[in-house]
Amino acid sequence: MRLLKVLPSVLAAACLLASGSGARAETGKVALTFDDLPALSLFKDQPYVNYLNDMLLRGLKRHRLPATGFVNESKLDAIDRTQQIANLEKWLDAGMNLGNHTFSHESPDQLGAKGYIEDIARGEPVTRALLAERHKPLGWFRHPYLETGFPAAVKREIDDWLAAHGYRIAPVTIDADDWEFAEPYDDAISRHDEARRLRIQKQYLEYTERTVAWYQKASNTVFGRQISFVMLLHATRLNADSIDALSDILKRRKLKGVTLDEAMKDPAYRVRDPYVGHDGIDWIERWSQELHKTLPWDSWQDPPKQIVEEYDRTNNDRH
Ligand SMILES: [Zn+2]
Repeated sequence: MRLLKVLPSVLAAACLLASGSGARAETGKVALTFDDLPALSLFKDQPYVNYLNDMLLRGLKRHRLPATGFVNESKLDAIDRTQQIANLEKWLDAGMNLGNHTFSHESPDQLGAKGYIEDIARGEPVTRALLAERHKPLGWFRHPYLETGFPAAVKREIDDWLAAHGYRIAPVTIDADDWEFAEPYDDAISRHDEARRLRIQKQYLEYTERTVAWYQKASNTVFGRQISFVMLLHATRLNADSIDALSDILKRRKLKGVTLDEAMKDPAYRVRDPYVGHDGIDWIERWSQELHKTLPWDSWQDPPKQIVEEYDRTNNDRH
C-alpha cells in the first residue's frame, strides 16, 4: 500500500524532470496561425476543402500544435455553406481558436477606412456565433495581405475601431510565403502530376526551414533574443499534406507550439508598430524601423523563381 502511494509521486517527479529537459531542448515558442479559412484552394471543390481541413487538424492535434484559424466568411457561400460552417466547427472542436480575417479579403487601399471597417464587421457573425456557443469571445483580427492601412489617418481609424470592438491585431513574425507554393501544388494534384507535386512540396519545406531560421536571426538582431513567434500559414492542401514535416522543422529550430494568446505575452508585442505604407510587411520589419535596427537582408532568400513563375501561371490573385 505504502509503496503504491509513493510510486505515483516518484513517477510524477520523473515526468516533471523529463518534461523539464524537453522544455530545455525547445528553447523558443511559436504560435501557428492559418489564414483564409475554410480554405485557400485553387478549386471550389467541397470534398477537397473538407479533406484538407480534416488532415490539417488531425496533424495539428497529433503534434500537439495549438493554432488559430482566420476566417473569410465570404468563402462560406462560395461552395456549400453548411459544410463550410461545419469545417469552422471542426477547428473549434479540435481545440483550436478562430479569428476574423475580414469578409471579402480586400485591401484597405481598395475599400478605404469606412469600407474596410464594414468588411470587418460583415466578416464576423458566423464565427462569433460559433465561438459564443462554446462560451468563447471573438478576439483576434488578422489583416489580409498584412496591409494595415495608408495613410496614417486610415490606419488609425481601423486600429481604433478594432480596439473599440474588442479585437486584438494578430501580428506576423514568421512569414514563409506558403500561399505562393500552395496553388501550384493544387494545380499539380489536379493534373495528377505526382513528380511535380513532390518537387513543389520539397521546395516548400526547404524554403520554410531556411525562412524560419532567418526570422530567428532577425529576432536576435532586433531584440537581442528569440521572441515568441507568430507564424503565418494558410489553410491549404499543401500544409495539410506537410504537417508532419512542418512539425519536424519546428523541432529542429527548437520551437515549441503555443497558443496565440501565450505567444503574445512576449513583451516584444508591446513595441509600437510605426509602419504606414501600402505594402503588407511583417512585424519584425515594422519593429526594426521603430527600434532602428538593420535586418540581415544579405541572408534573406525569396521563394525559388520556378515557384514564382508557376504561381503566376496558375493564379494571378493575391492571397
Ligand atoms: Zn489571407
